[in-house]
Amino acid sequence: MTAIVSLKDVQKYYGTYHALRGVTLDIAQGEFFSLLGPSGCGKTTLLRTIAGFEDISEGTLILSGQNMADVPANKRPTNMVFQSYAIFPHLSVGENVAFGLRKRSDLNTKEKAALVQDALEMVGLVGFEKRAAHALSGGQRQRVALARALILKPKVLLLDEPLSALDKKMRDQMQNELRQLQRHVGITFILVTHDQEEALIMSDRIAVMFDGEIAQLADPQTLYRRPISRRVADFIGVMNFLPANASGNKIDIPGLGAATLTPEQCPGGTPSGPCTIGIRPETMSILFGTEPAPARETNGTVHELAYYGDMTYYDIALPGVEKPVTLSMKNLVGRRVLERGESTRISWDDRALVAFAD
Ligand code: ADP
Ligand code: MG
Repeated sequence: MTAIVSLKDVQKYYGTYHALRGVTLDIAQGEFFSLLGPSGCGKTTLLRTIAGFEDISEGTLILSGQNMADVPANKRPTNMVFQSYAIFPHLSVGENVAFGLRKRSDLNTKEKAALVQDALEMVGLVGFEKRAAHALSGGQRQRVALARALILKPKVLLLDEPLSALDKKMRDQMQNELRQLQRHVGITFILVTHDQEEALIMSDRIAVMFDGEIAQLADPQTLYRRPISRRVADFIGVMNFLPANASGNKIDIPGLGAATLTPEQCPGGTPSGPCTIGIRPETMSILFGTEPAPARETNGTVHELAYYGDMTYYDIALPGVEKPVTLSMKNLVGRRVLERGESTRISWDDRALVAFAD
């Protein structure tokens, strides 16, 4: 991998507050990369250090092969789209986009106009250049902000929660558009988000951050299926946690019985003694009538349910387990919804289990 962004053991202190605690990270040319984590974990700080808006306290930052130690923000091959993508409502779309060229005194009016056209084309806003920015929808304003950031063709585009101000429908649409735009322009995107679904949908790879550190760096499927710790598992989607006991590769799980796990199912290391088993709701199912189990099965009771239209989430009480397990079922045609208190058989596949050392 040729890294366009390379951080080695980067530390950042705000006074005595240790905001980045040894971040080491390589991001490839053309990658859609996300920094994901709860509020306050250091995502914006990391992005701003890459942009050059913050100095790093210790460690190395290399962009496009060049050490950034003495390189100011405006000399870096990066550009940033801010959380509140500040566009000027009283200016036209074209003027807003041209604002990205304000420091380029080497370009004449004609050259600038051509770059504005290119940028508008990139984001699908050709024909909008005369429109006042305040007369745009949230999604269109977002695209203006992107055009302004892309107009100088940075090697790396930094995006700090760019979609958080949009409503859910518009956000879903922009996630799609942003991903397509990134593939189209081929520029490395680094997206900061606290929304795990957004990170999963959009990214080639995701760094999950807690407390100024990278907890796990992986592609979306690995992150979802093989989270390295309970904390990561809990942050990404929904996971049931069952207390268990490991000896060798055999794990005794009250409620589910004994299972044998492969090393891949223990991404945080093979547990020994008391440990925790994780299993996702969609990897378990209700067995109706005399339907044979596709894998393992046990008996339970419906403790609670939540009907979502397309899906039903069931909390199933298992004998000998304190906390009911949550499983999800698609509401297929002809499939009834169980009632509270009903006895049922449930099925799961041991390959879906993940073990965490406690
Ligand atoms: P995130 O973007 O993940 O929500 P930030 O990077 O903004 O988190 O902040 C990480 C931590 O650093 C927080 O605890 C925040 O209060 C602190 N912090 C951020 N900026 C400053 C600053 N300029 N001075 C002091 N502390 C800061
Ligand atoms: Mg932030």
